[in-house]
Order: sequence, then C-alpha cells, then structure tokens
Amino acid sequence: MQYDSKNIALNNRIMAIKITDECINCGACEPECPNNAIYEGGAEWRFSDGTSVKGMFSKLDGSNVDADAPQSPKSMDTYYIVSDKCTECVGFHDEPQCAAVCPVDCCVDDPDYRESKDELLSKKDKMHA
Ligand code: SF4
Ligand code: SF4
Repeated sequence: MQYDSKNIALNNRIMAIKITDECINCGACEPECPNNAIYEGGAEWRFSDGTSVKGMFSKLDGSNVDADAPQSPKSMDTYYIVSDKCTECVGFHDEPQCAAVCPVDCCVDDPDYRESKDELLSKKDKMHA
C-alpha cells in the first residue's frame, strides 16, 4: 500500500487521501468509507449522504452549503474522495480503509489537504452528531 502510517504525521498534520487516475473503478473502497466520502466517477455527492448532517453545513473553505444540495462530481472517469467529508477514518479506524482495500494502491496522501487529528475528530463529530 502506498499509504504509509509513518508519513501521516508531518508537523503534527495528517494528509488527506485522494484517488489517483490509476483507479480501475472496482468499487471496493466505496462501501468501506465510514463518512460516505467516496463516490463513483460522474456521481453527484451530498454532505447528507451517509451522515447526520442537516440544513446548512460549513465547508473547509469557510463557505456554507445546503447539506442536501447535490454537488458536482470531482471526477467523471474514476472514483473520487470528497475532502470535506474525509476524516482519514480518524474516529472510526486505525488506518484509511479505502487505502487498505484498494487493489491497485491508488488511494494516496494528498499534500493539498492537511488537518490535525483534533481537527479530523471535530470534523467526524460534526458529521455524525
Ligand atoms: S480515508 Fe477513510 S474517511 Fe477518507 S475517504 Fe478513505 S475510507 Fe473514507
Ligand atoms: S478500491 Fe481503488 S481501484 Fe477500486 S474504486 Fe476504489 S480507488 Fe478505485
């Protein structure tokens, strides 16, 4: 697996997970995600999918969106991860479940998203009140 627990603690920040274009669309990761943060290419996503979020929800960038409003797919060709919903499995599992089951090791660290364990736990609590 390319996910390496030794690499997640960088200045006490944990890197989010992303799916690369090496994804073979097997679908194995989607049911494993405790936050319903993984979607098939081309599928719309919602904050309310698989969470207890209702009404308006604050995104990582500070903007607010309707939890039930369909959002544009982040990839049309392969499965993708919604970073705003991914907690890197913190609060549920010891390691990212998508990376653990992916047969082609294409669930990898995303250097563009770094959150502390406390921030990820808060995020998890916010989505599963
Ligand atoms: S790391 Fe965990 S929470 Fe994030 S997308 Fe993968 S399975 Fe879902
Ligand atoms: S398990 Fe890996 S190859 Fe299969 S859909 Fe998920 S990211 Fe793609």
